[in-house]
Amino acid sequence: MLEYVTEAIVLDKVDLGELDSRVYLFTKDFGKITAKIKSGRKIISKLASHTEPLNLVTVRIVDKNSPQLIDALISKKGIPGKTLFKIVSLVRDISPEGQPDHNLWELLVALADSGAKAGDFSSALKILGFDPTCAKCNNCLKGSPDFFSVKDLIFYCKDCYQ
Ligand SMILES: [Zn+2]
Repeated sequence: MLEYVTEAIVLDKVDLGELDSRVYLFTKDFGKITAKIKSGRKIISKLASHTEPLNLVTVRIVDKNSPQLIDALISKKGIPGKTLFKIVSLVRDISPEGQPDHNLWELLVALADSGAKAGDFSSALKILGFDPTCAKCNNCLKGSPDFFSVKDLIFYCKDCYQ
């Protein structure tokens, strides 16, 4: 059984039935971790306010067969915004599990701290290996595409995107 403590940005949280929830974290030391918050309602309510999306937290995780979040302490609330929610969804969806990425960590902490601008989505894409500056529209091969499909992991220009 492994137990570890690390800093993390909360990417997302979903309820699993009445008592459990699943939290998506981007951690400083281990990259993305999807952890369960299990057991009684009391623990959930204690952890709930700390594990809201965009929060910068220190987490304690126990990994028996799968990661379980057993403690979380908020150190800072992130500044909400459309672009930042887009970025954390992107990281949740396409970042590999358990692979630390120092550049992505620094970017997420900076954006949670000061808020994200539209161009920051491109920076996140670039770190994740999808550099928009040398990308082409997947359909017509035009350069400087305007859209990225997270589902298909490809770029589109605005004429081809629907
Ligand atoms: Zn196109």
